[in-house]
Amino acid sequence: MSRSAAALRADRSVAGVHPILAGLACRCPSCGKGALFRSYLKLNTRCPACDFDLAKADAGDGPAVFVILICGAVACFGLLFTEMTYHPPVWVELVIWFPAAALLCLAALPPFKGALLAAQFLNKASEVRPEDLRHGE
Ligand SMILES: [Zn+2]
Repeated sequence: MSRSAAALRADRSVAGVHPILAGLACRCPSCGKGALFRSYLKLNTRCPACDFDLAKADAGDGPAVFVILICGAVACFGLLFTEMTYHPPVWVELVIWFPAAALLCLAALPPFKGALLAAQFLNKASEVRPEDLRHGE
């Protein structure tokens, strides 16, 4: 990491709160205090604590991909562990691991979405606007 990138990241850490940790806690990446979500996965348009504009933040499908890969691996490991250790009937494993995988995914989605939104904030990622394209002319 270059020195300027480290300085940029230090500038973004307001009030001692790292934006990624604030995102994982579902808090505003700018101040670390205001709630990031107004409902399960719906973002607030502005931070209730610092009035930071959250309307343009969009993590897309990124959080779902990470959650599916990580939680799917955890659920598969659990399923294989119970199969190899206890040899339960298939219906018992289905009753245990399908709901466990679903609940794990549902629980992990908000923190992952918060962390990816915070990473966008940290790296100044945004959509390309028409004026950005005309700048090089
Ligand atoms: Zn805030």
